[in-house]
Amino acid sequence: MGSGKQQYREVVAWLRARSWTVDEDRTGYPRARCPCGRHQKTIHRTPSNPLYFQQLKNRIRMMERECREKGERE
Ligand SMILES: [Zn+2]
Repeated sequence: MGSGKQQYREVVAWLRARSWTVDEDRTGYPRARCPCGRHQKTIHRTPSNPLYFQQLKNRIRMMERECREKGERE
């Protein structure tokens, strides 16, 4: 477990490796967008919750399931 900033960098690399894009919204918050373009998630760089990045990854995996399920119906 590294510092918050290091964990943030790791999660951005993890997202990009899964074909998500990470940019900043108008208020400067990092924002992840899924490969299908229908899901997005604002990311905190220095969350107070120590489990934040772990929970974020779980949420991202759930979104990826939705990406695939929606794609299969179309
Ligand atoms: Zn999606």
